[in-house]
Amino acid sequence: MTVTALRDARGPYVTWEAAFPGASARDWGLARSADPAAFGPDGRWLLDFRAFLVRSTAGVTLVDTGIGPVGAPAQGWAPVPGVLPEALAAADVAPSDVDTVVLTHLHSDHCGWAVTPERAPLFPNARYVLHRDEVAWVTEPVASYVVAPLRAAGVLQVVAGETVLSALPSGERVTVIPTPGHTPGHQSVVVEGGGAQVVVTGDVLVHAVQLVSPSVSYRYEEDPELARATRMALLARDAELATPHLTEPFVRALPTGDPAHRP
Ligand SMILES: [Zn+2]
Repeated sequence: MTVTALRDARGPYVTWEAAFPGASARDWGLARSADPAAFGPDGRWLLDFRAFLVRSTAGVTLVDTGIGPVGAPAQGWAPVPGVLPEALAAADVAPSDVDTVVLTHLHSDHCGWAVTPERAPLFPNARYVLHRDEVAWVTEPVASYVVAPLRAAGVLQVVAGETVLSALPSGERVTVIPTPGHTPGHQSVVVEGGGAQVVVTGDVLVHAVQLVSPSVSYRYEEDPELARATRMALLARDAELATPHLTEPFVRALPTGDPAHRP
């Protein structure tokens, strides 16, 4: 099995102080050591927008679809157009090769390439896996741009909890698990094989400050308490983490937990 990071875009967002108002000077010091490139010269947070490809003999799964083309719902704030189609081609994958698309959640920087600008599924042979609570929560313009066309095309698979997407007798397995808080129906993808585990996190953590200090909340979390509990549980796993927004796609949680917030 392989997990491949696909960068759709990189650009500045709000200031890091505004995004994580509860972080301490010590948290920021640790975060700067962990991910110096995330700190722009003008005080703004610099971040990647990334999807992940999971390939095994059981099939090809794409986790998230980036910010999308010109005109996609992320256009108002993210550096559209992204280059995910080119990144997929560079990984030798055609859209028709993808059999499963998992959308971790329906923020506009994670579902931009789910459909074409003409609102047809970009991955014509794929089922699109979304959590029930996310579909119930989504608002405009993502509801019309992404969810309605997928539903009309008959390719939406709504799940209600932990769901095995593929499993092989060798033990290789891809599973979607609920990780709520960032949004109500947020989900992550656990990839297991060869005794190792990679978790494609989605926005359970969005910045290195939440890797070094998992109790630090992100301003745009729908339910910060639930998001914190979810993050703590996910970072306690003995797994490599595949993250959409940190400069390094693959990171490991600190074995000591949350050093900045221990007494
Ligand atoms: Zn995001």
